[in-house]
Amino acid sequence: MHRQRCTRIIATLGPSSADAATIKKLSQAGADVFRLNMSHGTHGDISKIHSAIREVEAETGRAIGILADLQGPKLRVGVFADDKVKLVTGEEFILDMLDKPGDVNRVRLPHPEIYQAVEKGTELLLDDGKIRLEITKVEDEKITTTVKVGGPISNRKGVNVPGAILPMMALTPKDKKDLDFVLNLGVDWVALSFVQRPEDVQEARDIIGDQANVLAKLEKPAALYALDEIIALSDAVMVARGDMGVEMPMEEVPAKQKKIIRHARRAGKAVVVATQMLESMITSPVPTRAEVSDVANAVFDGTDAIMLSAESAAGEYPVEAVSYMDRIARTVEREPSYRRSQDREETRREPTSADALSAAAKQVAATLEAAAIVTYTTSGSTAIRASRERPKTPLLVLTPNQNTARRLTLVWGLNCVHTKDATNFQDMIDKACQICVSYKFAEEKDRIVITAGMPFGSPGKTNVLRIARIQSYHKE
Ligand code: PGA
Ligand code: MN
Repeated sequence: MHRQRCTRIIATLGPSSADAATIKKLSQAGADVFRLNMSHGTHGDISKIHSAIREVEAETGRAIGILADLQGPKLRVGVFADDKVKLVTGEEFILDMLDKPGDVNRVRLPHPEIYQAVEKGTELLLDDGKIRLEITKVEDEKITTTVKVGGPISNRKGVNVPGAILPMMALTPKDKKDLDFVLNLGVDWVALSFVQRPEDVQEARDIIGDQANVLAKLEKPAALYALDEIIALSDAVMVARGDMGVEMPMEEVPAKQKKIIRHARRAGKAVVVATQMLESMITSPVPTRAEVSDVANAVFDGTDAIMLSAESAAGEYPVEAVSYMDRIARTVEREPSYRRSQDREETRREPTSADALSAAAKQVAATLEAAAIVTYTTSGSTAIRASRERPKTPLLVLTPNQNTARRLTLVWGLNCVHTKDATNFQDMIDKACQICVSYKFAEEKDRIVITAGMPFGSPGKTNVLRIARIQSYHKE
């Protein structure tokens, strides 16, 4: 149950991994959270995968997080008469609203909002930036461009407009349907794609309420202008390097990754680094040295979680990819320089009892060389503050709320056990000691540090810090 690592692993499920047997292997190899990509698969497929995950969870007894990733307003061109054409550098190319197949001179771009948001000089990027068009003229429902970088383009390829804030909401009609579906199914996290403004997150939050946590995917430059506001409204953010590397020069992405991680951690929100982390493992059983370095550096940066996309969803080696992530994270976390960098990152504390006790627990546990810090939490908020301190001592979270245990699987260092609330002070100590022993966090005579809120049984503020020693009677 106790992962020998604090950085969490998210594995996207897809054709290579959607069956219960593979999901179990991925979980055993180290996947903490599974991502359902709503851009692919029918609701029937998604619901089958969902029950397979819950089956594995029941079998292994460890809480598993489920993240539903909504497609968002991804712009796409229409279709071509011959399915594809080759755009020639220097030639003119037109995008319009006409409902007829495209050719080498024009194609449909069925997103009315884009025609108002762009102007002469704006760049349009097609197919992950492989093709670049520069706008020379904008009319009502017609954009004329010059091909700056040409190449082959086929039906329904994606379009990015890095230079403009498009006046559209993050939730498309498809997203709304998908959201309704996944909330009924019961997921722990909902990811929003192409968030541009704080309002986009708010709109989703208003629908989701407390049914799931909200993760904002940062993939557009516009989102980075409002980074702190977006972080404040979200439970977690993702460094979505795939689209980000198209929306801005890709050499700017590494610095953005560091900045986003720093800001998220300062705010006490979880952060995920995603995309192409072990890309070559889609077809190879071993990663490249550069990929290993990339995963290791994300861990050094202090991210809460690292994510696999196609590697686990559609690749040939999904289990191996998770194993590599697990090994890399464990190895980095053992480095003294990792510990130093986590301690150095300043986390301004808020004047709350949760922050005061989380900081104190870290300090007390280090001084006593305690075996574990045990946190009782109902909503999970105290556990998140404890994680933000990045203590060296393992964190064990006890919660009476199964949803809390599942949501916290994405957060750095939190090992959650779903258990009944303590009934009185002695019971709080005994329960913490017993669970520490049975989950192999501590042995007889070890000391542990406990934080909890009194009175017990009613959700409230954490206000107790207690040092306890494991006794022989805790072992039954
Ligand atoms: P995606 O998001 O995999 O849904 O595109 C992640 C990214 O863009 O990096
Ligand atoms: Mn994306």
